[in-house]
Amino acid sequence: MSFSAFGDKFTRHSGIARLMEDMGEGLRTPGAVMLGGGNPAQIPEMNDYFHQLLQQMLDEGKLAEALCNYDGPRGKTSLLDSLSALLREQLGWEIAPENIALTNGSQSAFFYLFNLYAGYRTDGSKKRVLFPLAPEYLGYADAGLDEDLFVSTRPNIEMLPEGQFKYHVDFEHLHIGEDTGLICVSRPTNPTGNVITDEELLKLDALAQQHDIPLLIDNAYGVPFPGIIFSEARPLWNPNIILCMSLSKLGLPGVRCGIIIADEKVITAVSNMNGIISLAPGSVGPAIANEMIQRGDLLRLSEEVIKPFYQQRVSETIAVIRRHLSPERCLIHKPEGAIFLWLWFKDLPITTEVLYQRLKKRGVLMVPGHFFFPGLEQAWPHTHQCMRMNYVPESDKIEQGITILAEEVERAHREG
Ligand code: PLP
Repeated sequence: MSFSAFGDKFTRHSGIARLMEDMGEGLRTPGAVMLGGGNPAQIPEMNDYFHQLLQQMLDEGKLAEALCNYDGPRGKTSLLDSLSALLREQLGWEIAPENIALTNGSQSAFFYLFNLYAGYRTDGSKKRVLFPLAPEYLGYADAGLDEDLFVSTRPNIEMLPEGQFKYHVDFEHLHIGEDTGLICVSRPTNPTGNVITDEELLKLDALAQQHDIPLLIDNAYGVPFPGIIFSEARPLWNPNIILCMSLSKLGLPGVRCGIIIADEKVITAVSNMNGIISLAPGSVGPAIANEMIQRGDLLRLSEEVIKPFYQQRVSETIAVIRRHLSPERCLIHKPEGAIFLWLWFKDLPITTEVLYQRLKKRGVLMVPGHFFFPGLEQAWPHTHQCMRMNYVPESDKIEQGITILAEEVERAHREG
């Protein structure tokens, strides 16, 4: 049996497939310390809230209504209405319901959008997606229909006190050319927790407009929801920006609901793609989100429950890391948002791929850094010196994982 070129490309063993397998295996291994995946935390207050909300929606027939009907290809109208009103009121954006389309998770939105703007054109030219700052989200790496769809620029590194550092866009080496079809940046960034500054974002926005290409901002962790962002950052939207949001990091990854906010032309294109690929996006997530907006809970819970929860977890985790690993052994990217810490083992005698294998043997799962540089053309040793860890597990698991990490780092240094 042989597959098509599409089949060959999408059935090969991608980084994300290996990660998902490891996570699945880890979940079945008793005692495993899972610091690798991107699952959001189980926040008791949010879980209680969803429990009650779903019960009330069930009682009022709203859940059955969502389950028993197809929505249109742009997604549930009531959410398109309530969300556009919310964004207009809260952020002053000139958004109408026609500026929003829903997808089955934002991951599928990236697949649509990357292939809408990048790849071969009918005139034979080829466009690519530019990530202005790598490291970037691993989930982008294999989402192109054509080969070599991505190109990225390595960052400038600012060293900070207390063994921290921060990446910045290297505008001097950022190349936007004839072949750039889309600029894409996650803000906050998975894997690093970086939040590109307002100034950097405005500069990218200006460059995108100047070159007449869209700027995609992946706001899966950002404001106004789920609000997992600890630095001052202004959200930005204009008709040249495609803003992708998600319900996942609110604590609802299972509903698979992504949200695209863009110019009407883009939304119409996405709506047509939705029709072909999925008929309509799922209805349950949008029904829940609409209910949360109607009750005034979406932004309130993001600000009062979700953000403080993650902020506390991240500072506790950094304290644990520093008890076990000095800044000479391990630098930490300034945690500005998202649910990960990005660790830089500058002088480690082994690659972080080897470190990952050693940790996995001892039941600790983290993700080696080299997966997070999609489209980086030149070799860069830094890509093999970093590791991503999810900081949301309970504190005893974090302590256990970091203890083993520190032992393996020391062992590697001893072996030289
Ligand atoms: N964007 C970023 C930066 C992510 O980290 C993730 C998931 O971890 C996603 C998007 C995908 O989210 P969704 O569950 O909406 O597909």
